[in-house]
Amino acid sequence: MKNILMIGGGVSGQAVSELAAALKIPCRVVSDKDVVAEEYPQLFENVTDVIVSPGVLPTSGLYGEAVKRDLPVISELQFGVQNFPGSMAAVTGTNGKTTTVELTTFLLDKLNGNVIAAGNIGLPLSAVAAQIVRGKVTEAEKMIAVLEVSSFQLEHTDRLPAVAAVLLNVESDHINRYPGGMDEYRQVKERIFNQVPSDKRFYGISMTGKAECAGFAIKGDELYFQDKKLLDLQETALSAPHNRENLLAALALTGSLIDLNGRENELANAVKAFKTGDHRIALVGEFNGIKYIDDSKATNPAAVIAAVKSLAAEPAKNIVLIAGGLDKAMDFAPLGALTPYLRKVVVYGQCGQAVAAAFAGCDVEIFDARSNFALAVEHARNAAEPGDTVLLSPAAASMDMFKDYKERGNVFAETVRNLYKGN
Ligand code: ADP
Repeated sequence: MKNILMIGGGVSGQAVSELAAALKIPCRVVSDKDVVAEEYPQLFENVTDVIVSPGVLPTSGLYGEAVKRDLPVISELQFGVQNFPGSMAAVTGTNGKTTTVELTTFLLDKLNGNVIAAGNIGLPLSAVAAQIVRGKVTEAEKMIAVLEVSSFQLEHTDRLPAVAAVLLNVESDHINRYPGGMDEYRQVKERIFNQVPSDKRFYGISMTGKAECAGFAIKGDELYFQDKKLLDLQETALSAPHNRENLLAALALTGSLIDLNGRENELANAVKAFKTGDHRIALVGEFNGIKYIDDSKATNPAAVIAAVKSLAAEPAKNIVLIAGGLDKAMDFAPLGALTPYLRKVVVYGQCGQAVAAAFAGCDVEIFDARSNFALAVEHARNAAEPGDTVLLSPAAASMDMFKDYKERGNVFAETVRNLYKGN
C-alpha cells in the first residue's frame, strides 16, 4: 500500500496532493519549517514514497531523512509524468524556456489542438494528471503536454519519455545550488534527454553554432522548412537573435509531434500571429524621445546580453542599463563586454555592487542606487538623452525587493509613467 510524503507546499505540493487524492493514495504535505527532527520518526512511519517540490534544497532536513531511510525520492514532475497518458515535448535551458513552451503550445494549438503548457510555467503536470485521473478530460491519451522543465525538477526526474526535447542554452545561473559549478548544472540539464530518442534531442542554436534544426533553417532574415521559404522573420515578434533560438526549438518540437508537410502556410501564419510574453524586452513607452524597456524577466547575465543585442545591432553607447537584485552567486563578468552599448549603468539591490564590479576598468559610468529602486529609475531618466533607451534588465532575481519579476516590471513601468506625469 503506497503512502506518500510530499516535501514542500506551494503549487507543487497542492498538485501532488490533488493527484494522490485522485489516485486514492494517502499523502501528507509537509515543509521543513513545519517540523522538527524529533517528529521525523512519526512523520516517516509507513511512508513508501517521497516527492519533492523544486524549491526543496539538497540541504533540507526532511530530504536528508528520506535519503537516510533509503526511500525512493521523485519530483512532482515525475509523479505527473507517471500519470499522464498523452504525449510530451520538453524544454529546458537557462533562458528562453517559457517563450519556447508558449510558442510550441501556440503552434500546436493552431495546427492540432488538444495541447497544454505545463511544468515550471505555473501549471504542474500533476495538476493536469489529477484532472485526467478524475475523468474530467476527454481524449486524454491524445493530449499533448509541452513541458517547461527547470534544472531543479530534473534533479529527481529519471524517466521523462518525451517525444522530443530541447536544451536551449546553459549559462551562469542558479550556481549557488550546484557545488560542482557549471559542469554539474549542465549535467543536470542534459538529464532531460535520458529517455528521448537520439534523433529527437535538440540543442539551441547558441550551443550548436548553426541556425538550423530538424529541417528548419534561418538564412539571413528568412525562415525555411525543407528548403522552402516559410516567412520573413521581420513579420514576426521573433526576429531578435535569442528569439531565433527559441523559434527553431519550438518548430523542431512541433514537427516532432505532428506532420507539417503540406501545412507550411498554416504554420507560417501561426508563427506570425505569436506574441512574446510580458516583461521580456517589452516597450513601456517612449517619453521625450527616450524609450523605456521592461525586461524584468532577465534574471541572469546571458539574458541581459540577449536584450542589449536585440535592441542594437551595432553598439552606440545609447542604452542606460538598470541592473541588480537578489544574489545567486552568479558570474556577472560577461556583462563588462556590453560597455560599448552603454551610456551608463545604474545598479541597485543586494547584488548591485557585484554587478558594478563587472564593469570595473570599463569605459562606462556607474551609479549605485542601493536599495532605492525609484531612485534607480529616476537616475536612469536623468542620465538618458533623446534617442536613448532605458533598459531594466536586472541580471538577477527580484525577491530581495519584490514579490517576483512581474511586480518588479510593473513597479518599473509605474515609476516611469509617474516621472512623466503632467509633462
Ligand atoms: P525562461 O523561462 O527560461 O526564464 P523566458 O522566455 O521567460 O525564459 O525569458 C527569460 C529572459 O531571457 C527574458 O529576459 C528574455 O528576453 C531572455 N531570453 C529569452 N530567450 C532567450 C534565449 N534563447 N537566450 C538568451 N536570452 C533569452
